[in-house]
Amino acid sequence: MASCFSSDYRTARNLLLAHTRQAGGWRHECHEHPLEGLDGLPIYIDTFWKGRQDAPRVLVICSGTHGAEGLCGSALQSRFVEQAHHLPDDVAVLLIHGVNPHGFSHLRRVTEDNVDLNRNFIDFSAPLPANEDYRDLNALLNPSELPPGAIEAILEDVQALQRSMEFMRFVKAVSGGQYEFPNGVQFGGAAPAWSRRTIEAIWQAWLGQAGIVVQIDVHSGLGPFGYGALMMAADPDEPHKAVTAGWFRDMLVTPRPVSQADTILGGYLNGALEQQLGAAWVIPMTLEFGTEPPEAVFRAMIEDNWLVHHGDVNSPRGREIKQRLLGAFYPDSQDWRDAVLTRGEQVFSQALGGLAQLQRKGV
Ligand SMILES: [Zn+2]
Repeated sequence: MASCFSSDYRTARNLLLAHTRQAGGWRHECHEHPLEGLDGLPIYIDTFWKGRQDAPRVLVICSGTHGAEGLCGSALQSRFVEQAHHLPDDVAVLLIHGVNPHGFSHLRRVTEDNVDLNRNFIDFSAPLPANEDYRDLNALLNPSELPPGAIEAILEDVQALQRSMEFMRFVKAVSGGQYEFPNGVQFGGAAPAWSRRTIEAIWQAWLGQAGIVVQIDVHSGLGPFGYGALMMAADPDEPHKAVTAGWFRDMLVTPRPVSQADTILGGYLNGALEQQLGAAWVIPMTLEFGTEPPEAVFRAMIEDNWLVHHGDVNSPRGREIKQRLLGAFYPDSQDWRDAVLTRGEQVFSQALGGLAQLQRKGV
């Protein structure tokens, strides 16, 4: 088995292109981003479709919603293609590669506008969600100077804060999304980002006919090393989701956001797909692979944010920060890769099997 893992956006994209060409039966389209990649070449959101165009059941696998995390998701997409699953006549698969290609290529979690895409799928014509606690934290998490030793002091302050606050309030403050500080961390944007507009057009083009859509958005950076947690937002009165959770042995089901002000759960790509395909059964899931401890991941995000706004990406310090960021979302470890492949294969197989058998009237 050839390796499915790559060390940068270009190699990852080329590998998936090669795998799909070799396998045959995959229809490829690409959407060019207005900016260049790190290597000065064009970057894209790529889509690969296999199966009947009017298939009523579709499995969607997304990578790179959080740019740099795309290295993990892309490897799983390549492996999925390599495995050449048999698709029943009424099932199709759509791979969406590099949802945030700029962040993927430049090794940032966020987009070219410093936007966390999973906070960007909100209604910008309505009042924007407020994150009062982040307001007080912005100077700490988004410093203009970061001399040696400063990051350790910041992390100590964050830990002290965590001890002093109720847990969910702390989570919302530091990672719930904020719409006030464009150079801050967890910025949700001031308008729909290019990636959001493009993926919404992709959904429209490919999924309009579907009666059942299962979407798995692959992430990395949260949870125990190599462990792939499957998560879904659902309300108790959604029976098809209860069935879906049964396809997998373990799944974390969280409540849906009750309003746009609920920034802990709002603004997600997965929620937007449900809204867009109102008539279909949409079963959106996040597959999140753990990497390093939360402090290390958080450190990498704060340092990278400082680097892009106030530092020099091409300096020795810049390269060191980028290397740490890479490790935080894509550990250089064979054990980690083996665990990711095994779990990814398991989840995709279970999803395909379940999708093929799910009963819905008229589908
Ligand atoms: Zn992520």
